[in-house]
Amino acid sequence: MISVVKKETNPYVTLICTHCEFFKEDDIELECAAFKVLKEMLNKGRITQEEIKDAFK
Ligand code: SF4
Repeated sequence: MISVVKKETNPYVTLICTHCEFFKEDDIELECAAFKVLKEMLNKGRITQEEIKDAFK
């Protein structure tokens, strides 16, 4: 059985991708370079969720 996880269930996708013009709800597990960099910066504490939210205001 193949397990399929929709992107919107990923908290990083909710935080980053839902603001992106290229976001498609049926895309699964595709990550662009910007997404990977932001995710890594979040994981290393170099940027906060609030700073990302502020950037989209
Ligand atoms: S992975 Fe990148 S291009 Fe795709 S929706 Fe997220 S931020 Fe946009």
